[in-house]
Amino acid sequence: MLQIKDLSGGFEGTDIIKGISLNINAGEIHAIMGPNGSGKSTLSKILAGHPAYQASAGTVNYNGKNLLDMDPEERALQGVFLGFQYPVEIPGVNNAEFLRMAYNAQLVHQGKEEVDPLDFDEILDEKMEFIGMDAKYKNRFLNDGFSGGEKKKNEILQMAVLQPKLAILDETDSGLDIDALKTVAAGVNRMFNDSMGLLIITHYQRLLEHIKPHS
Ligand code: ADP
Ligand code: MG
Repeated sequence: MLQIKDLSGGFEGTDIIKGISLNINAGEIHAIMGPNGSGKSTLSKILAGHPAYQASAGTVNYNGKNLLDMDPEERALQGVFLGFQYPVEIPGVNNAEFLRMAYNAQLVHQGKEEVDPLDFDEILDEKMEFIGMDAKYKNRFLNDGFSGGEKKKNEILQMAVLQPKLAILDETDSGLDIDALKTVAAGVNRMFNDSMGLLIITHYQRLLEHIKPHS
């Protein structure tokens, strides 16, 4: 599914990551661990297509296509998902509406009909229950005033709604207490399936006790 070969790149022409190679097949969970500042988030941003981060060398092949050639929107529509280490707060944007728009963008891309707010509400309730998140977060502004752990859970909710093919979770465990960590890990485990690839970035071993990587 994903072949990263000799990838270098970073921010404003400075190479932060240097010559990374990694293959992820469907049905596999991989973990990347490393100290703060070693370039883990930089790798995830290059893969997701953050405009400020560029590859300077190497290739990234995603399901037979050059991932680095695609716009970030295209990557998302092709099933690439990044759970941010630092999710952004967007006051004024309703969480449920944001999720419905992302969900509908995918449906339109797949040539299907959009779902209306009422139908989406049912889908959302099911997903929230699935990951153990209270329904009250539906009508909050996106991440606005969320605690660190709530933001991370909201990232997992996005993942549950969008059902990506390749999910990159950047330090999803940081900021979670042990109960929230267990709930989130259980949600990720239940969501994971044989047609999916998962890249977990963390610097705590404890998450890997709940989500077992293949390598
Ligand atoms: P990690 O996620 O492994 O902790 P990062 O990828 O966030 O590491 O950062 C790697 C290095 O690149 C750090 O030294 C960081 O300060 C630097 N870096 C990343 N993004 C930027 C940026 N936007 N501006 C300046 N330096 C950056
Ligand atoms: Mg990081």
